[in-house]
Amino acid sequence: MKKTKIIATVGPTCENEEVLDQMIDAGANIFRFNMKHGTTEWHSNAIKRAQKVADGKKFPLGIMIDLQGPEVRIDLKEDFIEVEKGEEITFTNSPDGDSKEIGVPEKGVLEYLEPGDIILIDDGFYEFVVSKTTKNKILAISQRGGKIGNRKGLNVPSHKLNMPALIDADLNNLDMGAKNEIDFVALSFTRTAEDIENLRLEMEKRNLDAHVIAKIENRSALQNLEEIITAADGVMVARGDLGIETPLEGIPHWQKKIIQKARELRTPVIVATQMMQSMVENPIPTRAEVTDVANAIFNGTDAVMLSNETAAGKYPVEAVRAMNKIIIYNEQDVDYSPLDIEAKDSSDLIMKAAVDILKNPGEVSFSAVLVFTKDGKTAKQVSSLRPRIPVFAISDKKEVIEKLTICYGIESYYSVFDKKTLERPNEIIADLRDKGFLEKGKKALLVQAQHWDLPEFSRALTIVKV
Ligand code: PEP
Repeated sequence: MKKTKIIATVGPTCENEEVLDQMIDAGANIFRFNMKHGTTEWHSNAIKRAQKVADGKKFPLGIMIDLQGPEVRIDLKEDFIEVEKGEEITFTNSPDGDSKEIGVPEKGVLEYLEPGDIILIDDGFYEFVVSKTTKNKILAISQRGGKIGNRKGLNVPSHKLNMPALIDADLNNLDMGAKNEIDFVALSFTRTAEDIENLRLEMEKRNLDAHVIAKIENRSALQNLEEIITAADGVMVARGDLGIETPLEGIPHWQKKIIQKARELRTPVIVATQMMQSMVENPIPTRAEVTDVANAIFNGTDAVMLSNETAAGKYPVEAVRAMNKIIIYNEQDVDYSPLDIEAKDSSDLIMKAAVDILKNPGEVSFSAVLVFTKDGKTAKQVSSLRPRIPVFAISDKKEVIEKLTICYGIESYYSVFDKKTLERPNEIIADLRDKGFLEKGKKALLVQAQHWDLPEFSRALTIVKV
């Protein structure tokens, strides 16, 4: 079983049940729905199909919606405009019919620009340098020629955009997420912990009980990294926009740093974007892509993500399968650097003891860790310590096991249990053994609450024979 999780983005090339089914069998743990593209209705229908397919599977599937957040898109009068190198182009809130103008409808963007500032369009492919500012318009010189398509993204790397964290479309998509009982909400362009808190308030209003994933993709997020990771339930190294908003060559540095910080703060972390980009067109990845996925594993990430490869590529199932193989092969020899963390409470202390036992088991041979978890916290704590053997997190709440799909090394398992099961977990152990997850004759380390109602002070470790 692999330990690093795979998140696959669902789009037009993998929307039908058959392909979704094959992607789960190939190793996808979470399906991501990118709200930047497609309609809310399309996403809602695709989520329902994914949930239906996942229902018959051995292990749970997580569903993530990825909100657009304070992202700026250009609004052209035509489908595209053609610009020449050195040409002065006008940017304005409301283009007045001149097809050469680039519309930027969002308030809080153009107002803050000054001569010399850089404007980037279409993932930084087109660069403009601001030459003049007037009350309603910005003039900027194009640094290269070409055809710019409508609705392409616009970035201003030097400025923190003065826009709300959530746009109207995000609020509609939260309504849809609540109705579909999704598990994760990713927030694009998270700038501060306050952005996360605002999102949580909107989720509470809708009774949406999902984990919040902060996408780290601009300078503000890097500056406020610790407070954002602390406020969120997970973080994503969103390398696409990060490579526009900050220098491209800095991505490996930030990837390592963000993973390290997230692990220290015991928060799941995802590495995203262009991991297997060539598989949009080709059935096998390049050597460099294989190495990129492996390096994310060596860095200690919880999950790796596929975007266009599955959402718009020709080989969505093959992309998941290839990623799965890279993970399984390269996880064999990983020796994650131990985290030098002080135990925060008594349950933390028990977790550290569990991992110490697994590291130095003497003559005892363990086949797995079983964690009985009420809200997922215990399982997350074990995951962040990166044990080398599989961890089965057992919960009687579907929403808990689905949220654990992001965590390194955790296979979450739904089972109804009571006080008696906790005292004598024979049936669950027999069930896992019969399914081939636990090896007969070996030992399993059980992490459980002695008194289910007093979770903070009642963790216990038990060693049982399978
Ligand atoms: C990214 O920018 O890397 C990312 C994951 O976001 P999106 O796919 O929405 O651009």
